[in-house]
Amino acid sequence: MADCIFCKLANHEIPTTIVYEDDLVAAFDDANPQAPVHTLVVPKGHYENIVDGVPGEVLEHMALAVKKVAEAKGLTDGFRVIANTGAAAGQTVMHLHWHVLGGTDLGENLV
Ligand code: 5GP
Ligand code: ZN
Repeated sequence: MADCIFCKLANHEIPTTIVYEDDLVAAFDDANPQAPVHTLVVPKGHYENIVDGVPGEVLEHMALAVKKVAEAKGLTDGFRVIANTGAAAGQTVMHLHWHVLGGTDLGENLV
């Protein structure tokens, strides 16, 4: 999709440090980290969010990417995965992404 920052990052149109990628998904660090580890897992195809008809295969690859990110970042004690979905949830980039947060004790706030 034209003018979508995450399309460009996931498909190497804008350079970034890729934490993990395969043919369907990519993971890169958040530009404004909210935890010592804050990596975004995104599909290479454009879907607005998790309820935008995302193929099961893409979701499967995203789940695998979460595991790969956790391994690459050494998140052996646990981590949190968040998918802000829609304006009321604070979604600001309208390209499906999962936040992988960790590297500290995240506590029991929010959920
Ligand atoms: P949302 O609020 O939509 O769930 O999260 C969007 C996330 O994307 C935010 O955490 C924000 O810091 C991150 N972000 C926005 N623009 C960029 C960018 O150009 N590069 C990277 N790496 N992260 C970005
Ligand atoms: Zn996009």
